[in-house]
Amino acid sequence: MAKILDGKALAEKVRVEVRTEIETCGIKPGLAVVIVGENPASRIYVDSKKKDCAACGIKSEEFALKADAGEEALLTLIQELNERPDIHGILVQLPLPKGYSEQKVIEAISPDKDVDAFHPLNVGRIMLGDYAFLPCTPAGVMELLDHYGIDPKGKHCVVVGRSDIVGKPQAMLLLHRDGTVTICHSRTPDLAAMTRQADILVAAVGKVNLITADMVKPGAVVVDVAMNRDENGKLCGDVDFERVEPIASYISPVPGGVGPMTRAILMRNTLMAAKRLSGPENV
Ligand code: NAP
Repeated sequence: MAKILDGKALAEKVRVEVRTEIETCGIKPGLAVVIVGENPASRIYVDSKKKDCAACGIKSEEFALKADAGEEALLTLIQELNERPDIHGILVQLPLPKGYSEQKVIEAISPDKDVDAFHPLNVGRIMLGDYAFLPCTPAGVMELLDHYGIDPKGKHCVVVGRSDIVGKPQAMLLLHRDGTVTICHSRTPDLAAMTRQADILVAAVGKVNLITADMVKPGAVVVDVAMNRDENGKLCGDVDFERVEPIASYISPVPGGVGPMTRAILMRNTLMAAKRLSGPENV
């Protein structure tokens, strides 16, 4: 039976650390959360981020634009937020409605306030291993591994998924920690042959039960990043948890694994941004 990588408990620990540091450092971080249009999933994410801010002692301010507000209005808002000294982090909830260039919007955010670490400058810094912010989900995965004493060094780490926000930065972070990294994607001819070699397997695809027990090496560490809905509408990951859990050494559940960590790392990134913007002596 695998040990559970309990992201819910660890996320709470991270939030408490952030809150304690805010109480002692005398800096009040501010996070601007921008939502465009009426996407119900985005609304849930934005509300939960505001709740996390309240729990950590971070000031959050929501900016809700109508779907037809237009890219110019959004870019103007971002410019204003870039200039506001009481706002240290800017988060634009993705996806944006049709008619908006996500890349243009991401690039408009000051890299110093880019708490999602999506700006090309921050992405480049991650490649170089010299970064201020890490993207929240891959950083949350690394934090989970560290907490449970799982060292990627010398391990074969197989990342399934190559998106800019999860798969690619995840692979890079594992590489920086001396893992031997394989990245798989939809054109990988024999996915199972790759995943079976993994000492650490990270699934970040978005397909229910893509990773079955026969695709997992006994004793592997299995991290499930995905957030899917099964045919009954229940939240689940990419991994067939019931059948993989008996053979893995560690496994992250969905929900309660990577998801809460992503949210907690956003809080930490916002504190980090506030400290950096308040002067290098704070970092
Ligand atoms: P994405 O942009 O859709 O990327 C999915 C990746 O999976 C792509 O690289 C795609 O390959 C690959 N893929 C698709 N079908 C595949 C297959 N049959 N075999 C192997 N690879 C396959 O998704 P994402 O934004 O990275 O998110 C991935 C999952 O993580 C989603 O379920 C999302 O909801 C979840 N997520 C969770 C959190 C969290 O906090 N837990 C945060 C972000 C995302 P190609 O590149 O070849 O198309």
